[in-house]
Amino acid sequence: MRFEYAPAPESRAVITLRDSYGLFIGGSFVAGSSVFKTISPATEDVLAEVTLGGAEDVDRAVAAARHAYERTWSVMPGKERGKYLFRIARLITERARELAVLETLDNGMPILQARDVDVPLASAHFFYHAGWADKLGYAGFGPSPRPLGVAGQVIPWNFPLLMLAWKIAPALACGNTVVLKPAETTPLTALLFAEICADADLPPGVVNVVTGDGGTGHSLVAHPGIDKIAFTGARSVGKEIARMCAVSGKRLTLELGGTATNIVFDDADVDQAVEGIVNGIFFNQGHVCCTGSRLLVQESVAGTFLDALRSRMARLRLGDPLDRNTDIGAINSRAQLDKITSLVSSGTADGASRWSAPCTLPDHGFWFPPTLLTEVPSASRIMQEEIFGPVLSVATFSTPEEALVKANGAPYGLSAGVWTQQGALLLQMSSALRAGVIWANTFNRFDPSSPFGGYKESGFGREGGRHGLEAYLDVVSAGDVGGGIGV
Ligand code: NAD
Repeated sequence: MRFEYAPAPESRAVITLRDSYGLFIGGSFVAGSSVFKTISPATEDVLAEVTLGGAEDVDRAVAAARHAYERTWSVMPGKERGKYLFRIARLITERARELAVLETLDNGMPILQARDVDVPLASAHFFYHAGWADKLGYAGFGPSPRPLGVAGQVIPWNFPLLMLAWKIAPALACGNTVVLKPAETTPLTALLFAEICADADLPPGVVNVVTGDGGTGHSLVAHPGIDKIAFTGARSVGKEIARMCAVSGKRLTLELGGTATNIVFDDADVDQAVEGIVNGIFFNQGHVCCTGSRLLVQESVAGTFLDALRSRMARLRLGDPLDRNTDIGAINSRAQLDKITSLVSSGTADGASRWSAPCTLPDHGFWFPPTLLTEVPSASRIMQEEIFGPVLSVATFSTPEEALVKANGAPYGLSAGVWTQQGALLLQMSSALRAGVIWANTFNRFDPSSPFGGYKESGFGREGGRHGLEAYLDVVSAGDVGGGIGV
């Protein structure tokens, strides 16, 4: 049965959008040489004009970050740095509604997901890392670990504020300063975050935000004044960045994509597994690096399981991302919509059967219905490539060994899920699956204390937890006495 709900839109009145935004360099907003427009993917309406940072803007930002690193941040006692991080965490919490509405407008994600996941996890990352700032000597990297210097950080559009927090919070806690480049389609929450840094009285130059496109990101990666690059984004761009950093002496971490597999055994609780699979692939329209885009179901239960899955998918509500009833929001850009459409076509051309949940797509904006592809050949592009959209590709297996071969056959290795009531089977599968994160009878659970990162083509390095600190510390000379940062 399908219930009708009255619309429950979140008010836009909570935000004040400026017509035009500058770059945040050295503690204030400054003009750049050219501009571009950021739009709402749900309506295609222009939200604001944003500065397109050029090489000279990147240069200014790196100089500001270097100055702040040498004069202020790296010599400040960890206890003091921690106070700033706590202050930023509290300000994110205080301005949570504003950040959530802005994220939903610019990104297209449902407001409940921005409000209940993206924004609270972002503030949790600052709270968590604030606690580390004066305890780095006890993190297992020697008694007096040193920061690296200036970090250049490039982030994608799928969780703009959360990806920013994953990058900036550990960098600052460890005594580094940063130049952050948000994605071109979702710059607005990073710019509001810059205002938060100013409101927190963060010393000028500790955080710099340079908006722009891939060219801006390239200038940042290539800049000789950068000590560490942290990149989250597409595999092809990550490979290019790895080549650029290889001969530069810059430290590098890459968080690239994924094609996570959920494996459902015949003894799994069907309702629980269906709910987890739906959350795993349709959360944020599948714009999740660890999204469970591949499903392997044990042959004996495949028919009943897929019936239950279709019935649940038919109840998902697609529409206005600001409506609190919405489960599936807008696809972030026309380019991403075209990529999803083309990969689905290649899957059906390879012999897969397509079923999409019955829903009406709005006339404007970028939309794709929740979709199931069954009988997908293992070698099909859609099984091997990241789709980053609301499309679940399904295949079956008969034995755990066959499931492992199919799951580990993907080029990526970011995450996986296993659904069974048998503890021994869970342990056996999770130790044999080649993925950075493995969820057992659940999916998409995140915590700042838990390291996140991939194997194989999903990149290297970890974000979150004690392991994530290592990416921002000079662990090679951590045993040196003297010259370390204050703890
Ligand atoms: P993208 O690589 O196109 O863009 C990511 C960022 O890199 C953007 O800010 C972009 O402007 C910048 N960029 C583009 N070309 C560049 C270049 N040559 N040099 C430097 N910077 C450049 O990726 P996207 O489409 O924005 O994001 C989606 C991808 O991000 C997916 O593959 C997804 O899996 C991945 N992702 C991974 C994680 C993770 O933690 N592993 C998390 C979120 C997203």
